[in-house]
Amino acid sequence: MRGLFMAIAKLDPRIVEYGKAHKKVYRSIYSAIERYDRIVIFRHIKPDFDAMGSQMGLYTFLKDNFPNKEIHYVGDNHISFTPRVFPETETLPNDWFKGGNFLAIIVDVGDHERIADPRYKHAKYKIKIDHHPCKGEIAKRASLVDTESAAAAELVADVLLNWKGKFISQEAAHYLYIGIVGDSGRFLYSSTSPHTFAVAEALVSTGFNLSSTYQTMYEKNLDSLKSLGYVLSHFSVSPHGVAYYCLPSSVQEELHITPILGKEHVNTFSNIAGINAWCSITEDPQPKDYCWRISIRSKSKDISGVAQKWGGGGHAQASGARIDSLKDLDAFIQDLDKLFVD
Ligand code: AMP
Repeated sequence: MRGLFMAIAKLDPRIVEYGKAHKKVYRSIYSAIERYDRIVIFRHIKPDFDAMGSQMGLYTFLKDNFPNKEIHYVGDNHISFTPRVFPETETLPNDWFKGGNFLAIIVDVGDHERIADPRYKHAKYKIKIDHHPCKGEIAKRASLVDTESAAAAELVADVLLNWKGKFISQEAAHYLYIGIVGDSGRFLYSSTSPHTFAVAEALVSTGFNLSSTYQTMYEKNLDSLKSLGYVLSHFSVSPHGVAYYCLPSSVQEELHITPILGKEHVNTFSNIAGINAWCSITEDPQPKDYCWRISIRSKSKDISGVAQKWGGGGHAQASGARIDSLKDLDAFIQDLDKLFVD
């Protein structure tokens, strides 16, 4: 798929305008990429479609347009996305990073602790492209952060589409599209804007196979169906419409799932009348970081403040949080529930 290059006939004015508004940072990004021959792309831990889509889209674009540069992508793999949707991530030895003579491009992550490989710190120059609220400076000289953007992949794609003389292959476009579809909830969340659609259209116009892209993203297996059955018969709803389900380790074992799949069915509640927010609460027995991981989604109200209060963060309608024990569950649900008292 990578070999197919399609020049995008005419850029949508929204893309052109966005590029103009961010001209200075775009120039810094382009010139740093031109200058460095060794480049590594980083993203957040426990990756989702957007983290991997923006990483792999950018990686593929750079490989296509700069065949003589050494380009890598690193980070933890995902239990079901790799290698089904994205290739396994690379393992680079520590020696590779020695001396710091490389460019680190960090996508879809707002704070240091969540970057999936700490060796980005050694880079002589860093670029950040993200849509999370900033929690500490990562790239002083070249940082494109737009918290209004539906996906980091939307921003990465805008940067690449505006780069004159460069081409987006079908493969690069396919990955970036996955990122946008993933983080916009298939163009459902309120963060989806006319710019999101303009970028998506430009990517689709490269001619990658849209239906096989969706098929790859959303393919399920029978275990997944069984865990959906569990969720549907064990969820609770708070007085003001917060739906939630808990998946203790013992249940995960029975269902043949691991903690990263705990949130798989969280959006089952997205179109239910009377449900304002919904969350999955998944026991994660990691020896050094035991907790119950929470994925929170909301129909309209901003839930990121509650997520921050409970050890996490994220976006208005999709955030992550944690509790150390189920003793805190009621207090957490009450905090969310209060958002919906008229
Ligand atoms: P999740 O529920 O893990 O899919 O996360 C939903 C969104 O919130 C994603 O954009 C995550 O990157 C973000 N997020 C999750 N956990 C955190 C955290 N601890 N700090 C900041 N953002 C987070």
